[in-house]
Amino acid sequence: MRTLSRSPFVVIACLAAALPAAAQEPDGGVTLIRPERVFDSASGEVREGWAVLVNGDRIQAVGPLESLSPPDGARVVDLPGATLLPGLIDAHSHLFLHPYDETLWDDQVLKEARAYRTLRAGVHAERTLLSGFTLLRDLGTEGAGWADLAVRDAIEDRLIPGPRILAATKAIAATASYAPGPRGWDPDLVLPQGAQMVTGEAEIRRAVRDQAGHGADVIKVYADFNRAAGTSPTFTLEELEALVDEATAAGLPVSAHANSPEGMRRAVLAGVRTIEHGSGGTREVFRLMAEKRVVFYPTLAASAAYDEYFSGLPGGWELDAPDGGLTPRIARSLQAVRDAREEGVIVGLGSDVGVFPHGESWRELAWLVRAGMTPTEALQAATVVNARALGLEGKVGEIWQGAFADLTAVEGDPTVTVEATRDVVFVMKGGIVYRSPE
Ligand SMILES: [Zn+2]
Repeated sequence: MRTLSRSPFVVIACLAAALPAAAQEPDGGVTLIRPERVFDSASGEVREGWAVLVNGDRIQAVGPLESLSPPDGARVVDLPGATLLPGLIDAHSHLFLHPYDETLWDDQVLKEARAYRTLRAGVHAERTLLSGFTLLRDLGTEGAGWADLAVRDAIEDRLIPGPRILAATKAIAATASYAPGPRGWDPDLVLPQGAQMVTGEAEIRRAVRDQAGHGADVIKVYADFNRAAGTSPTFTLEELEALVDEATAAGLPVSAHANSPEGMRRAVLAGVRTIEHGSGGTREVFRLMAEKRVVFYPTLAASAAYDEYFSGLPGGWELDAPDGGLTPRIARSLQAVRDAREEGVIVGLGSDVGVFPHGESWRELAWLVRAGMTPTEALQAATVVNARALGLEGKVGEIWQGAFADLTAVEGDPTVTVEATRDVVFVMKGGIVYRSPE
């Protein structure tokens, strides 16, 4: 059933594998949604008095209320005082992780049963959807193998509620260059690993083929890692080129974890589409990223959460926390965003949620504002910018005729106060209502 339901999209766009077939008729009928205002993500404008007509799983029309003509018997959803937005997109998540102040990463990977982690991921998926995020790019199961594909498919088959998922499966790291260990552990222990470990072109190509063959939507690679001597590149440029070449042959984009200038530079030169974290990015590297149109995901919310847990950052995600209270890590990450934007790099919203609680990806919006974006720019990062970065332009991220009816509404106006994205009153995905004030 799954294979058949996805097949129409394979031809249209490689990344559409996680999207349900157009023919699906969620609730049948037509729905008229009447919010106070509609956020037009492409222009950044807020349209007072606009409304949206949904037919099946698609947006049929958007415009001033009086210009829409719903058929008799159409369902009406009234959202007074609320702003209707395209469903938000978090381009960097880990559904298989939960906050490290609950359970340390090592303990999650080594002690929690995969079945337990998978059930948890299902709960996390529901929380994510109900918080207005209707699409995740989930960048690695962190030791839970292929289980993200099962969660993705269970959501697609409507067994459980959740966002659309672009799944990376295991992720790829260089031998002995991820976690857990081997540093800090009995060297004779054979530890389960948080990624698929490889060395050399042949192993890299095998890993990409393996992941693509199992049904990954994206290939995630760790281009550098914090080792004994500090953060340094773990793959050669030639290895990364082989990885991108193999992924491209399979129709998949590549996302690279990289914090060091050289790790970032190699990944960008090799042809990855997105850089994750990038806290050590130099002006030169950001210029290269801008030139190659590589999208930057600074994952500020996760860095802040990490420093809250382990470095005494007080209430790190709160916008009113004094700048003086920032840890060096956060200060550096914020500066990286400012530098990148000055060099013309596209910055999207990718929070690395899982490090902090699922359902709170809105924190990254708040952090992007703190890094210098206007609330409107942060909302665009979470919608139209991410849709383009993920190759899903026109399908998601915009309230646009023909796009999927993936919508969320929040109290108030998030283009004025971005924290309004916390106060979700309505969520629809593919024309199905998952949250409503009624
Ligand atoms: Zn991550």
